[in-house]
Formats: sequence, structure tokens, C-alpha cells
Amino acid sequence: MPDTALVRRARKIDRVLAETYPDARCELDFDDAFQLLVVTVLSAQTTDKRVNAVRPLLFAAYPDPAAMAGADRSHLETIIGPLGFFRAKTESLLKLSQALVETYDGQVPGRLEDLVTLPGVGRKTANVVLGNAFDVPGITVDTHFGRLVRRFGWTEQTDPVKVEHEIAALFPKRDWTMLSHHLIWHGRRRCHAKKPACGACPVARWCPAFGEGPADPEAAAALVRTEGRA
Ligand code: SF4
Repeated sequence: MPDTALVRRARKIDRVLAETYPDARCELDFDDAFQLLVVTVLSAQTTDKRVNAVRPLLFAAYPDPAAMAGADRSHLETIIGPLGFFRAKTESLLKLSQALVETYDGQVPGRLEDLVTLPGVGRKTANVVLGNAFDVPGITVDTHFGRLVRRFGWTEQTDPVKVEHEIAALFPKRDWTMLSHHLIWHGRRRCHAKKPACGACPVARWCPAFGEGPADPEAAAALVRTEGRA
């Protein structure tokens, strides 16, 4: 069991981040679980903004797993070309949609244990889909989340699955999805990997890593991004 002081501090930080980022949500656009699954896979090594830009064309051409499973490879490559790694990503989408058609009757399954059997889908992607398309609470351990929870001293683990389990023990299940959004937004806007904006951080007083970036308010304010990136 985690100690009470740690739990209290962690929940306080989450509450303050929730107030700071009331619009925190999944920054990838989607209309249904299939779209979210696909755009999450596509978001590797690129920005959510770029993925959002190709989404309309992609799903106008291939609105469901059956359509995408039968896609013309070079046409699909052309659509997702702006995202980089387009050959590998096209291969992933073809395999993913074929597996959905063959194993899940063309539907995205709503259980973690099924989602992770799909080609190219790990726990991170599965938890994004569960939390945002199925309302099943999930913790998304991406690079921002991992960095922040270690800075906060909530865990020392670096393995994403261990991180997920240790953080899950600090929060009620119903909070897991929004907690993920709050931390990812904070990581994208203030608590950067290099030069976090410590002097302009609303949770600085509870953060053991305060001072890792500039503590001077003016210098820190210059580092704050109003819009997320990556
Ligand atoms: S004080 Fe600095 S390291 Fe801590 S959360 Fe804020 S920006 Fe990140």
C-alpha cells in the first residue's frame, strides 16, 4: 500500500492540474473507437496535429476496418505520407484492420486483453482507446506521463507497466483517464523534458523536482506553451 502522505500529495497535484487545464482531453480527433485506434497508432513519431490533418481524408476513403483491410496499399501510403514512416505505418494499418475483420467481426474490442492482441497495439494505445472511446478507466503511460510521475516522486519505476500499476494504486479507478490527460497536458505545456517551466508551474510547491528548469517567473513564463506539441 502506498503511504497516505504520498496519496494525498498526488491527488492534490491532480486536482490543481485539473483546475489549470479544464479542457484537458485526448488531443487526437476521432468519431468512434476504430478511428481512435487508428489515429493513436499513427501518432507514433509525429504530432497529434499532423495526424488530425490527415484524418478526414483517411476515413472518408476507409471509414471502417473492412474498407481499410481491403485498401490499395499505395493509395493508403499517399494519404498518410505527411506523417513519415508511411510504409511501416501503412503496413500496421493493413494488419490491424485485417485482424479486426478476421478476429473481431470488424469491431474494435472493448477489453484490454483483446486490444493488446491486435498487431501494433500495446498497453499504451489500448488504454487510450479504452479510456476515451469506451469510458473504461485507463492510465496512459507515454513519455510525458512517465517523466512527470518520476519528477513528482510518485514512482521510481521506468518500465511503463510497472509505472502504470504503481500510479493506479494512488488514485481511484474513475480518475485514471483524466489523470492521464492532466499529466500529458502539463508535460506538453509546462513540464518539458528539457527546461521545465518551474517558475510558472501551478504545482511547484508539491514537486520535489522544482528547480530542474528556471525558477525565475519571467524566464519560466517564456517556456510555457499555450498549445500542446507532440
Ligand atoms: S515544478 Fe518544474 S519539474 Fe515540477 S512539475 Fe512543475 S515544471 Fe515540472
